[in-house]
Amino acid sequence: MILQKEMIANLFDELSSASDTGKKVVYTFVPGNLSELILAFDMLPVYPEINALQSGMRKMSGEYIREAEKYGYSEDVCTYVKCDIGMMLKGNVGPTGKKLPDPDLLLLSYTGCFTFMKWFENLGKLYPNAEIAMLHTPYQENGKITPEMTEYMVKQLREEVIPKMEKVSGKKLDEEKLKQVLEHAVKTEDTITNIFDLTKNVPSPIDAYFAGVYYIGPINIGFRGTPEAVEYYNELYKEIDYRAKQGLGPITPEGEMEEKYRLVVEGPPNWTSFREFWKLFYDHGAVIVASSYTKVGGVYDMGFRHDPARPLESLAEYCMNCYTNLNLIQRTDLLAKCVTDYKADGLLVNSIKSCNSFSAGQLLMMRTIEERLEIPVGFIESDLVDPRYFSYSNLKNRLDSFFQMLEQRRIIRDPAEVAS
Ligand code: SF4
Repeated sequence: MILQKEMIANLFDELSSASDTGKKVVYTFVPGNLSELILAFDMLPVYPEINALQSGMRKMSGEYIREAEKYGYSEDVCTYVKCDIGMMLKGNVGPTGKKLPDPDLLLLSYTGCFTFMKWFENLGKLYPNAEIAMLHTPYQENGKITPEMTEYMVKQLREEVIPKMEKVSGKKLDEEKLKQVLEHAVKTEDTITNIFDLTKNVPSPIDAYFAGVYYIGPINIGFRGTPEAVEYYNELYKEIDYRAKQGLGPITPEGEMEEKYRLVVEGPPNWTSFREFWKLFYDHGAVIVASSYTKVGGVYDMGFRHDPARPLESLAEYCMNCYTNLNLIQRTDLLAKCVTDYKADGLLVNSIKSCNSFSAGQLLMMRTIEERLEIPVGFIESDLVDPRYFSYSNLKNRLDSFFQMLEQRRIIRDPAEVAS
């Protein structure tokens, strides 16, 4: 925690002094992020979704969303977008209380969510001096990445993205530097995979959703590819491995947890009432052992690694492998594999009102997994950062019924253990 706080504070300090140091600033997205290229050009990243979720956790998103709605954004627009635009309209003060610099480059890496395009189209109007570069990622319609798809993306990197980055930074791409950054990225990807593998232990030493979203912070906000991230994830692995070896359960804001149920969760969490939301699971002894949301910045557990020997090709493959760029069959298979590999008792879907990208097809995926694996499944609804859509009693009622269903299965499956 100390290391992560230091890393993030340093990044925001660097951002707030960018106009003095002359460092160029890139606004970009978590899925399909080109961290390694940004680092190779010595530029600084800003992730609007991260600012939005931080504003949600700090109870500021409601005000930003209202500001964006006053400006003309409809109630149906993704609340990350409205929170980001509202924050910008209110002076663009970031999560650490310091003003964020305007972007020099809007790097739109498009990985399956159409909102990304509309979001940056709007930012393009609000920041007319910023350069815009777009990288289009072809959807994995047939569940495969073909050589043509990779070639198409590498061409865009060479002809569109890198030239714009060279123009904005005033530097030529240093291919040797990019390779070194990619070497660090591979180490980080190996370690984070090993960390999330530890939740296969019974009991799981961590909660892979509520704590997992915290652990993926550095890898998703621009540190993948840095020596700091390698160190951070090595330290994190040591701590969690220790807990696993001692047979300890997850630490939560309410205290240490005793594992009763193991769940896989699909969909992002609610950020505005994060602690109350987590407590609903804590109260029932439900530990999340795997989640799709911790894979939005990269699906490393399915084997993808950046490759310093094929730098641009592997950047392209990284984008194409993003969770939001997988088709429904791939997502279903991935969730089913998680249920099996992590010995989960059930699957829960948290459907997000304003996120079409995640919500489309969730019911179908849930029913398919229910039939295929014969496990209890549950469906709840909330929102990312709009506090108007977090209904505590609704969620509690639905979760109570879901946990009753899990308990019934437990009694049927293992009556002796339940009785004891
Ligand atoms: S719709 Fe969902 S995936 Fe798309 S930008 Fe909003 S939160 Fe992200």
